[in-house]
Amino acid sequence: MPDLPPNRTETAFTDYKLPLSRGQAIVEANRCLFCADAPCIKACPTRIDIPQFIRKISTDNVKSSARTIFEANILGMSCARVCPVEVLCEGSCVYNLEDTPPIQIGKLQRYATDTAFENGWRFFEAGPESGKSVGLIGGGPASLAAAHELRRHGHRCTIYEKRPALGGLNATGVAPYKMRADKALEEVEWVLGIGGIEVQLNAGVGESISLADLESRHDAVFIGVGLGPDSMMGSPGEKLPGVLGAVDWIEQMKLQYLSLGNVQRCVVIGGGNTAIDAVREARGLGIASVTMIYRGTKASMSGYEHEWRSAQTDGAVAVWQALPIAFEGEGRLQRVRCICLDDHKQAIAGTEFSVEADLALLAIGQSRLGQSLAALAGIELDRGRIITDAGGFTGRKGWYAGGDCTNGGKEVVNAAAEGKAAACSIDQYLAGQTFAGQSLAGQSLGGVSLVGQAATNTNGSDHG
Ligand SMILES: Cc1cc2nc3c(=O)[nH]c(=O)nc-3n(C[C@H](O)[C@H](O)[C@H](O)COP(=O)(O)OP(=O)(O)OC[C@H]3O[C@@H](n4cnc5c(N)ncnc54)[C@H](O)[C@@H]3O)c2cc1C
Ligand code: SF4
Repeated sequence: MPDLPPNRTETAFTDYKLPLSRGQAIVEANRCLFCADAPCIKACPTRIDIPQFIRKISTDNVKSSARTIFEANILGMSCARVCPVEVLCEGSCVYNLEDTPPIQIGKLQRYATDTAFENGWRFFEAGPESGKSVGLIGGGPASLAAAHELRRHGHRCTIYEKRPALGGLNATGVAPYKMRADKALEEVEWVLGIGGIEVQLNAGVGESISLADLESRHDAVFIGVGLGPDSMMGSPGEKLPGVLGAVDWIEQMKLQYLSLGNVQRCVVIGGGNTAIDAVREARGLGIASVTMIYRGTKASMSGYEHEWRSAQTDGAVAVWQALPIAFEGEGRLQRVRCICLDDHKQAIAGTEFSVEADLALLAIGQSRLGQSLAALAGIELDRGRIITDAGGFTGRKGWYAGGDCTNGGKEVVNAAAEGKAAACSIDQYLAGQTFAGQSLAGQSLGGVSLVGQAATNTNGSDHG
């Protein structure tokens, strides 16, 4: 994997949640009631046996605790850092019913998984070679979880990633105060440590490799391409220097040194979690004035309330029920022209106003890549999202999918769960294929490619 520049901008951030020491972890673990019908397990998309891993921490059996976590979720280290635990496991802990702080499940998971990484513990081996091979398109959390599980079943895997590194948005998108890119790449190496996963970087399917090539090389295919580029608004002045997609800007900030120049006023457009992340990151980098502009009310925004509270604590402000209508400035952005909206999101005549800004980040969703697969017989789409059954089967023989490209944009833990579930389905399919002597070759490809087909879709979803 390529080295990241040491001076990249994200290194300005430190962990916003400090890790637990061994003593703190044991004390916290002993608070757990080890509920029989634990609601925290049901709230976890990967169904980690939370009371069991916590009980093992309480008896100082950290190695076995980590095994319990990784058995369910091989991306348990990053999920411990990036999961929105407030609305998942911790939000379901029974202690909430007693108005008592929930068990710090995320921090306990981090304690166990970090200890495993620090000690170089390995838990899994590849299964006996099955003679089958699976091609995985995209190298994000969904494909990584799928590939690891497929190796446990003995299938050879090749991940085709169009970028120069694996990790997907876990490396390029997650807020650096939760996890930096180098940590995400460390986890990639840990996953690949099972052996037998070939990686082809700078290998865009539809660019250097055609779908036909891919089908002829493999017995099954997993699609884990995530979402496409930031959706833009199409408003006047959007091409001015200083106007950028939020996911694009976050990626630059995480992977490179990003000079902020004289930026003192930043406007973030949107009300989802990407918008809130961008707001907190802009404030964290010292931009004095950061304003989030959202077309709906505070109550209707899709971003998590607890994240917005933190953004406010960081000093951000919001303008609710407003729509940017033009980006203005001489040679570069100087102000964003807006109009107020009513409760039906209709513009109210005569309410135009401007917000001074040197930087505007558009966080109104990401386009969806699924459209490019629509011509593949058997693959159905719903507004650019690939439709699958619960096991990730697309409807086309041997083709499976999972992660953001199927769920429309959720969390890393959802991608991990869906990748693993698809791998189990692929394993069953390959077992049947061995029996029936089926093959992928000979299916109609309909002449489609994955290149540059990001359907611009302003309904594209934010993570969460
Ligand atoms: C700004 C931002 C912040 C986020 N923060 C969090 C967070 O704090 N916590 C959390 O749990 N989730 C967060 N998420 C969501 C989370 O990152 C995603 O849900 C998760 O990464 C989805 O995994 P995936 O594998 O489906 O897709 P991705 O992570 O997007 O990976 C897809 C991969 O496929 C590659 N690819 C695409 N097309 C091709 C092709 N044709 N050929 C080859 N490769 C291709 C891409 O380059 C990419 O590497 C965030 C998302 C964003 C945008
Ligand atoms: S719900 Fe809370 S107390 Fe019960 S097992 Fe889960 S973490 Fe422990």
